[in-house]
Amino acid sequence: MPAHHTMKLQDLPQFTVEEVHGTSNDGETLVVGRLSHLRGMRGTRGYFYRLGGPSIVGDLDAVPSAETERVRFLTTEAEYAPELKPGIVYPWLDGNWQPGHISMILSPHERWERRTFSTSPARYFLVDGIMRWQPVDAPLPRGATDLGVHAGGWEHQRCELCPEELSAESTAEGFVDADNRWLCTHCFERYAKSQDISFAIDG
Ligand SMILES: [Zn+2]
Repeated sequence: MPAHHTMKLQDLPQFTVEEVHGTSNDGETLVVGRLSHLRGMRGTRGYFYRLGGPSIVGDLDAVPSAETERVRFLTTEAEYAPELKPGIVYPWLDGNWQPGHISMILSPHERWERRTFSTSPARYFLVDGIMRWQPVDAPLPRGATDLGVHAGGWEHQRCELCPEELSAESTAEGFVDADNRWLCTHCFERYAKSQDISFAIDG
């Protein structure tokens, strides 16, 4: 494997807030600012990544063509970020990823344990409109609607960061964290072990 530079939060594009305005749409906030660079940007949807609480999702009105360009970001989640004022800087996370991907890789790698994936019963549930599943004995996340247990319902598990599928029939060796998120061995070695978030920058 070629040597690579371990990337941290400060290597993501940094969004410097210059102006914050309410808009005529109720609950919507317009944030004007600049991005320090455009690496990893695939589209207009993205997050202001916040260490201290929920990240804020929203949309740029266009992908900037140059990093010096002023950008406009519309969000309905400004209420979660009382510190959102001119001068603050947020790491920008492209909407292709979720803030949980970053926090899971930045957490100490001791949180991960090697495990062999095997088909097992799964409890399905609905949370924030998305159907998910987890081991039968794990407590349901707050606000989840229980959809019941399916025997053999958990036959494969996609790696959180790449298209690799872990299943008893093919690649069964992987790593799982305290929140039941799975990584394939490659992604564990490449990212989690050194807390490297380069997947969100170069990916
Ligand atoms: Zn992977």
